[in-house]
Amino acid sequence: MTDEAKSLRALSCADDYDPNSMSVPKARAFIRAFLTPVEGVERVALRAALGRVLAQDVVSPMMVPAHDNSAMDGYAVRSQDLSPDGEITLKVIGTSFAGVVFDGAVGAGQCIRIMTGAKIPDGADTVVIQEHVQAQGESVRIGTGHRKGQNLRRAGEDVEIGQTVLRPGTWLRPADLGLIASLGIAELAVYRRLRVAFFSTGDELRSIGSPLAEGQIYDSNRYTIYGMLTRLGCEVIDMGVVRDDPALLETAFKHAAAMADVVITSGGVSVGEADFTKDLLDRLGEVLFWKIAMKPGRPLAYGKIGGAQFFGLPGNPVSVMVTFYEFVRDALLVLMGRTNVEPLPTLQVPCVSALKKAPGRTEFQRGVLFQDESGGWKVRVTGDQGSGILRSMSEANCFIVLPESQGNVTPGTLVEVQLMEGLI
Ligand code: AMP
Ligand code: MG
Repeated sequence: MTDEAKSLRALSCADDYDPNSMSVPKARAFIRAFLTPVEGVERVALRAALGRVLAQDVVSPMMVPAHDNSAMDGYAVRSQDLSPDGEITLKVIGTSFAGVVFDGAVGAGQCIRIMTGAKIPDGADTVVIQEHVQAQGESVRIGTGHRKGQNLRRAGEDVEIGQTVLRPGTWLRPADLGLIASLGIAELAVYRRLRVAFFSTGDELRSIGSPLAEGQIYDSNRYTIYGMLTRLGCEVIDMGVVRDDPALLETAFKHAAAMADVVITSGGVSVGEADFTKDLLDRLGEVLFWKIAMKPGRPLAYGKIGGAQFFGLPGNPVSVMVTFYEFVRDALLVLMGRTNVEPLPTLQVPCVSALKKAPGRTEFQRGVLFQDESGGWKVRVTGDQGSGILRSMSEANCFIVLPESQGNVTPGTLVEVQLMEGLI
């Protein structure tokens, strides 16, 4: 047994531990305490770093911008030449383009024409936009109301030399790629991808492509799980369907745990099936079986099999997705090396539907967030909320999260909404 598994067992002996009534936050905190992020690092080209987790400090080798430059098209002037109470005339002695530097200095009574992004020449310290200038042959006339240093972008105002712009644990987004490119950095160290093996359990399941006999259904969970893992940037190992047969399951669990950092299964943890899986997993690792005070998604198994993290999700298609979003997602982000894994913000919006809700459990009803005629955001519930109705997930763009203490909801009540987009 590993050290983590030992402490997993120890924690489960705590006084306030009740596997049959786990609150959502408690289960989350429990899982969080047993996660060890990946350590492997690889170097990748900047483009390939999108969506990966940074494994190094990014320190700027230069100032950005590298030199003072103009924020507007206009004329670069010396502020000493400007007059607070009258018009002045300056001689235009050249032009500075972005990328083509004016090779000289601006002296008294002189200015140059300058384009946006072009380097400010020596001598000049201010830009007057072209709309505020009257050109007269080789000269320009400039009125009053200008301020020293106006319309300039200062060298280093974006990034200073030696500044740490990104820290390890950052999930690299398009803006980060651009920022890193602006420093001239072409290659980065990122954590290796998390390897996640998953399979579905159930004698009734068939894979797509084969015909269904009576009583059989197509395995949909493997596709939603594939989708969620792929969007998170995991390396996925799809192990197919495994029948409810102890020998086959044992082989599959062992195989999965040997190959992957994380093993995810669906089905086989509900009442009636749990005992059988429990015995097996008790032998193979250290796994806790919980009944979470939530709907959908009541049964959940969590623990370790060998060195791998294990999540045993319920079989119902909606429960799989909800438990993945609420428990597995954050855990995977931590395992991937991300720091600052915070819950996604929720919004408070009026709910136009009446919702049935029993106090005592957190509910994740499927909702559609929409704009009414006056532009205000509201939410309505999708139709039938059964945990087998996968269409409710497909139609929804958000969860309506109803806290444990909440009872029925009357139309017009403010509810908490968690957007699915961005969740993964
Ligand atoms: P279980 O948790 O194994 O008792 O399954 C609960 C319900 O989910 C049953 O109706 C199963 O047929 C269904 N189910 C289990 N696994 C899948 C799957 N991979 N795809 C679609 N439905 C499933
Ligand atoms: Mg089953």
